[in-house]
Amino acid sequence: MDLAGILEKAENDERLTREELLFLLDFPSDAMEVYTIMARSNRLSKSLSGHKAEVHAQFALNIAPCGCDCKFCSFSTLNSVFDKRWEISFDEAVQNAELLETNGANAIFVMTTAHYAFGRFLEISGEIRKHLKSETVLIANVGDQTLENAVKLKEAGYQGVYHALRLREGTDTNIDPGQRKKSIRHFQEAGLSVGTCVEPVGPEHSSGEIADMILFTASFLPAFSGAARRITIPGSPLESYGMISEMRMAQIVAVTRLGMPHAVKGNCTHEPCSLGAIAGANLFWAEMGANPRDVKENTEDGRGGTVAHCRKLFEESDWKVLTGPSMFYAGENFTKDI
Ligand code: SF4
Repeated sequence: MDLAGILEKAENDERLTREELLFLLDFPSDAMEVYTIMARSNRLSKSLSGHKAEVHAQFALNIAPCGCDCKFCSFSTLNSVFDKRWEISFDEAVQNAELLETNGANAIFVMTTAHYAFGRFLEISGEIRKHLKSETVLIANVGDQTLENAVKLKEAGYQGVYHALRLREGTDTNIDPGQRKKSIRHFQEAGLSVGTCVEPVGPEHSSGEIADMILFTASFLPAFSGAARRITIPGSPLESYGMISEMRMAQIVAVTRLGMPHAVKGNCTHEPCSLGAIAGANLFWAEMGANPRDVKENTEDGRGGTVAHCRKLFEESDWKVLTGPSMFYAGENFTKDI
C-alpha cells in the first residue's frame, strides 16, 4: 500500500478503508512512517480546529460500586476498589463547576456512575446551570438513556454528552453494545452533540478492533473522536495485559484523526500528554473528584490533571489553546488551510 496516497486521501477528506486504517495502525510505533503519520495528523488537526486546542474539565457527582462491571473501571464491583457510596452536595457541585469555569475550561463535564438517580442528576444540573455563565458549555457524562431522558438533559441546559461504545463492549463490560449505540442515537435525536473516543485501548486489542472502532465513531459524526489508552486498575482482570505506551497511543490518535471526516473537528486523547498533542490531539481533559481510571477518591491527589497542566502540555507541543466556549461542541466550521 502507498502511505503517501493514503495521507493525501485523508487530507482531501476522502474516507479511508478498513484496510488502509490497518496499514497505518500496523507500523511498529517507532517506525519512521509513524512520525510521518503523526505529523500529517497534527497538521490536519490544526487546520480543522483553527490551530486552537481545547481543554475540557470533568468532575464527578458520586462514587458507587457499579454493577455494569466494566473490567477497566475502578467503580466496577468486581474490581473492589471503592466499597462505599458517596455523593457530593448541590453546593459542592456548584463550587466545582464554578472553579472549573474560572480556571478556563472550554467545556465542563458532569459525570456520574451508570446508576445515579436521574431525577437528582437533573435537579443538581439545574442548580449548576443557574450558577454558570450562559455561554459556558455543559456536558453530561452519564449512563445509557432513553430518548425521553435525553430530551430532559437537553432541557436541563446540556449542550452535549460524552458517550462511547467501548472496545469489547459486552465482553469486558456487562452492557449490551446495542444499548450504547441506541443511547448515542437518542442523544443525537434530542439535539445533544455527542463526543466520543476509541477507548480504552490495551495491548490485547488488535489493529482490526481499533480500525473497526475508528470507523464506528466516524459513522455518526461526533463532536470529536480520538483515542485513549486503558489505565491499569490494580487487581483488575485486565491487569495482566499491562498498558500500551504513550507512543502507541499517539499513533492511534493520529490514525483516528486521519480516519475521521473533516466535519469532525475534535480529536481527543486521555490521559493528556505531549506525544498525543504532537500526534494531532486537540482535546485534553482535566479532572476533579472520582475518576474511573483512578483508585484515589479525589483524582486531584492521583492521576487527574488540572486545566493549567493540560494547557501547558498543549503549549509545550506548539498548540495554541482556545479561550472561551468549546467550538467542538458548537460544531463550528473552520476553513481548511492545508
Ligand atoms: S465505566 Fe461506567 S458503567 Fe462501567 S463500571 Fe464504570 S461506572 Fe459502571
